[in-house]
Amino acid sequence: MIQVPIAALGLQNTKEDWAFRTVPQKHACLGLKEQRSAWPRGKVLGGSSSLNIMHYIRGSKHDYDSWAREGCEGWDFKAVLPYFIKSEDNQILALNDSEYHGKGGYLTVTDGSTTPLVDVFERAMRELGYPLTDCNGKSQK
Ligand SMILES: Cc1cc2nc3c(=O)[nH]c(=O)nc-3n(C[C@H](O)[C@H](O)[C@H](O)COP(=O)(O)OP(=O)(O)OC[C@H]3O[C@@H](n4cnc5c(N)ncnc54)[C@H](O)[C@@H]3O)c2cc1C
Repeated sequence: MIQVPIAALGLQNTKEDWAFRTVPQKHACLGLKEQRSAWPRGKVLGGSSSLNIMHYIRGSKHDYDSWAREGCEGWDFKAVLPYFIKSEDNQILALNDSEYHGKGGYLTVTDGSTTPLVDVFERAMRELGYPLTDCNGKSQK
């Protein structure tokens, strides 16, 4: 199950999952029992990465910069970005010329399998005025 990305959701509430639950939420989880959300975490070699969905997300540059400001020298976004680029083998044509992406690394990044619903979703976003951005690119909004 760990080796089949799409099967990852089937690992929740198994012995590979710490299966935490949040405390009751005041303003969220309104449709959930006791307003508590499931909080899966990997209880297995590889940790939560063994349970995750494999969306390629590097994290917010503001987090790296704040860790560096708090004393984590060498972990500001400018310092870690070259390693993200080096480790990536980006195969998304639209990002070929992006200075935020790399080719030839060991982590292959693709568009994934898309369905016609993705086009509909993107059209809806455009209609509502949301920009379509690369969440690992210049603007992470
Ligand atoms: C269902 C799901 C889907 C996700 N999808 C994505 C995604 O698509 N893209 C993405 O970027 N991120 C995703 N994430 C988030 C991502 O997987 C995690 O943020 C990341 O793996 C956290 O890494 P970590 O090293 O901080 O913690 P973890 O990988 O959780 O590592 C902590 C390790 O410590 C161990 N541990 C904890 N307590 C103890 C203890 N008392 N004794 C011994 N060992 C202990 C745990 O078993 C675990 O192996 C997802 C997470 C989940 C759960």
